[in-house]
Amino acid sequence: MAKKGLLIHYEYCTGCMACVVACKQEHDYPAGRWGIMVNDCTRETEGRVQVDFLPFPTDLCDLCARRTHQGKRPACVKHCMAECMFYGELHDLAKKMETMPRSVLFVPK
Ligand code: SF4
Ligand code: SF4
Repeated sequence: MAKKGLLIHYEYCTGCMACVVACKQEHDYPAGRWGIMVNDCTRETEGRVQVDFLPFPTDLCDLCARRTHQGKRPACVKHCMAECMFYGELHDLAKKMETMPRSVLFVPK
């Protein structure tokens, strides 16, 4: 079976944390454990503020195996209002990534 992954087009990430909450609720992780986190990478360069949020799945992420085996999208993808998260086969995501310069591709262990 083709390997799957998550593509995150972080240029459009608003830092809303919906993915973090959806993942936590889906998996019921204990306090202090998260399947995905969002880094605030806001910085100031030459007097200009650049706001960037960078979501990154942790080693607890199983790509929502229970949901995807039922044909559903991962919880984070479903709840991302910015629609900047994509789940699919790696070769499809890699192709999509070519049109998304500020994106990251996550491949679980
Ligand atoms: S794919 Fe599922 S387990 Fe992985 S970060 Fe998204 S919601 Fe969490
Ligand atoms: S739900 Fe989407 S927009 Fe919100 S923090 Fe996660 S990736 Fe960013």
